[in-house]
Amino acid sequence: MDGVQPPAIRYPWSEPPAPGEAIEVADGVLWMRLPLPMALDHVNVYALDDGDSWTVIDTGMSSKKTRGIWEQLMSGPLSGKPVKRIVVTHHHPDHVGNAGWFQSEHGAELITSRTAWLFARMLTLDVQENWPQETLDFYRSAGMAADVLEKRMAERPFNFSDTVYPMPLGFTRIKQGDVIHMGGRDWDVHMGNGHAPEHATFWSRDDNLVLTGDQIISSISPNLGVYATEPMADPVSDWLEACERLQSLAHPDQLVLGGHKLPFTGLPVRMRQLIENHHGALARLIDELDTPKAAADCFAPLFKRPIREGEYGLALVEAVAHLNHLYHIGSVSRSRRVDGAWEYQRKG
Ligand SMILES: [Zn+2]
Repeated sequence: MDGVQPPAIRYPWSEPPAPGEAIEVADGVLWMRLPLPMALDHVNVYALDDGDSWTVIDTGMSSKKTRGIWEQLMSGPLSGKPVKRIVVTHHHPDHVGNAGWFQSEHGAELITSRTAWLFARMLTLDVQENWPQETLDFYRSAGMAADVLEKRMAERPFNFSDTVYPMPLGFTRIKQGDVIHMGGRDWDVHMGNGHAPEHATFWSRDDNLVLTGDQIISSISPNLGVYATEPMADPVSDWLEACERLQSLAHPDQLVLGGHKLPFTGLPVRMRQLIENHHGALARLIDELDTPKAAADCFAPLFKRPIREGEYGLALVEAVAHLNHLYHIGSVSRSRRVDGAWEYQRKG
């Protein structure tokens, strides 16, 4: 129709639920929030009413505080019905953190992708008191600033076991193409990728709800990171493939329930943004690589804003991701700098 604006992104709720409270975003679907001790200070979790019990989507980071909020939620908005199933979208601690607690303390079943379960359990069991040499080598290869590296080495290394409750043996696998019944609806399971491998998303067949975890978020671009576990990974390719595939499922009126920020409608617009953000970043990056640069020298073209201390780690792994992508598609070559960092330069 002439003169009608394309549907933009809209936020039906301008404020999130307070800690320990829930907002019913659709019949039998509760939206709740748990705090996170970092720059991104919250995670969204959801409870789906299965009649005699609840299915919970994601669990927050493991801490006494978040489990206290869960207890408050279970005796409040979840009105004393048991949580029988935990669905975890991906293996990151702010999503899987309390899954093991629901399993061992509440007898809940854990449902997630095989990759998410393997990663979460492997990393939780892999307790390191000192920085692994592989991680230090990875940071040096990325050109991490000497003062940042020195400060990190003086601190306890990042351990999943500090933020993820022990995970007992056993889970139920979901995979691409499955259908799962939750909250009185059938949901198609579509696997995302790039932010986390084999990241589950759920698309209701019976109404317009989509549960997207961190694959699709409203107002921030999900972090695409490379880690010492797979230094040559290309999560940018994985991300673009997944987003282009999920884009074909998007409708303007779907209510998108993501892992952070606010629920929204206007998914086709958001999918285009999530894809174009990275094409734009890659184009700015390749422009800068007329002279050789390490990952840590590429924040300005990638992020177009100053990177604060609390964001340095995420910025660095995302810079490596974009450089790895350019390297794998053959647009840049790389060589070792005297300090051990890989420097990348545009070809031709
Ligand atoms: Zn995540």
